[in-house]
Amino acid sequence: MLGLMQDRPLLIQQIIEHAALNHGDTEIVSRRVEGDIHRYTYRDARTRARQVAEALIALGIHPGDRIGTLAWNGYRHFELYYGISGMGAVCHTINPRLFPEQIVYIVNHAEDRLLFVDLNLLPAVEKLLPQLKTVRHVVAMTDRAHLPAGLDIPNLLVYEELLHDKPGTYEWPEFDERTASSLCYTSGTTGNPKGVLYHHRSTVLHAYGSALPDTLGLSARSVVLPVVPMFHVNAWGLPYSGPLVGAKLVFPGPALDGASLYELFEKEGVVFTAGVPTVWLALLNHMRANNLRLSTLKYAVIGGSAAPPAMIEAFDKEFGVEVLHAWGMTEMSPLGTVNHPKARHAALSASELLEVRLKQGRPPFGVDMKIVDDSGKDLPRDGKAFGDLMVRGPWITSGYFKGEGGEALVDGWFPTGDVATLDPDGYMQITDRSKDVIKSGGEWISSIDLENAAMAHPAVAEAAVIGVAHSKWDERPLLIVHRKAGATVDKKELLEFLAGKVAKWWLPDDVQFVDAIPHTATGKILKTRLREDFKDYRLPTG
Ligand code: AMP
Repeated sequence: MLGLMQDRPLLIQQIIEHAALNHGDTEIVSRRVEGDIHRYTYRDARTRARQVAEALIALGIHPGDRIGTLAWNGYRHFELYYGISGMGAVCHTINPRLFPEQIVYIVNHAEDRLLFVDLNLLPAVEKLLPQLKTVRHVVAMTDRAHLPAGLDIPNLLVYEELLHDKPGTYEWPEFDERTASSLCYTSGTTGNPKGVLYHHRSTVLHAYGSALPDTLGLSARSVVLPVVPMFHVNAWGLPYSGPLVGAKLVFPGPALDGASLYELFEKEGVVFTAGVPTVWLALLNHMRANNLRLSTLKYAVIGGSAAPPAMIEAFDKEFGVEVLHAWGMTEMSPLGTVNHPKARHAALSASELLEVRLKQGRPPFGVDMKIVDDSGKDLPRDGKAFGDLMVRGPWITSGYFKGEGGEALVDGWFPTGDVATLDPDGYMQITDRSKDVIKSGGEWISSIDLENAAMAHPAVAEAAVIGVAHSKWDERPLLIVHRKAGATVDKKELLEFLAGKVAKWWLPDDVQFVDAIPHTATGKILKTRLREDFKDYRLPTG
């Protein structure tokens, strides 16, 4: 027997309507690329999102067409999220930090019809445009007065002019909730980037799931500043989960340095923020160097890479900010787990609690996880066994755009490419990317554990560990360290520091010092580059 409840589809445009009706006066504050601060409300954003939809229709855009954005976190990008998806087209966010060839590949693969581009990214797009085969118009996300003279972009349109004469009375259509809504390519360390194609249903369910108290815990009292860019898995869904609960949003624009972020946190009373470890390192350094305090910030999500223990402790002890360690993937919309303690953790000592907080956290309802061995057999959830992490759920991909990369699922589960443990309390801990794990004498060494241990040394700015070929053990760990300015720590001191913190046979065979650790366009340590840089390197141990 079927139930008798309404079959309302879950659609993204309902979120902005809900916010406009119930939190109409709540502010969205943006530091604009133009340099000033812009403020308006959810009510204003809703009208302008409708104007975006009206403008797209006037430009001949149809449902299903892909519309590219090359833009930072700001109110116009937010309007595009809703205007594009809400009229049935697909909002394709593009990471401007990718190599130009990758951007060309992605735009052509997605067959983007229009490109919405922030002011300071127009010169880069101007250069690439002859290679972008399907783009009919570039839209400069600004007004006429700010448009630089001398741009050689044929058919260039100006965002504010496009919206200016539109009524903003558009009635959102209702369609199948599985209609594609947005597209994000994974950075991929090998091969071409692959497109993850979200739908309305997955996006709305993800927004629900991520707003829950033990996930991001957002509410109408939250003031949320997403540092994570809107081109990196939709800013981890915050432009959807924020309005879903009526939180105030603060968009930082292109300036993500410590000083700019600190100023916005304080001026706008930010309570909740989210980003990758690299930006937090810069913020912590800025605050220490200038003897600053945070007066309103309560929660900082750290995700995208493992949160180093020294960073968790610095936020907590020096600045009174609770770190929410989180894990996810582009293929998971992205939220997989967030770390919140359970009631009984109150009895733990500080060091025991830190052990728990280093884990990537527990999944919300909607994310199923299991770990398997090389033959695909389930491994126990005992917090010790580690294996390939598999996930499934309504906001996890079933396959890549245009079937790229073949079958994405194994028996209905998505293999994450991460190696992890699961414990009986539901906490997951990543020990490595499967490609990065170091295989020494048939046993696995976690590069993340070694990096975390090394980063706890006060002279270390950043550390990375890679496996290097070894005649006897197959592979042994090499520790690569970027020292803090002026620091003189040497190999001997670092190895002594690590001894006792990790198993003896895990100790790196050598330490090499570099001027900088390379990062991917989304802020992760670029291990492929390090392996390339050290391909002729030989360990002293053989
Ligand atoms: P992306 O799709 O670019 O967001 O990358 C997803 C990958 O980033 C995951 O599969 C993990 O390898 C890594 N990652 C994300 N969050 C964390 C975390 N908290 N700790 C360790 N690795 C993480």
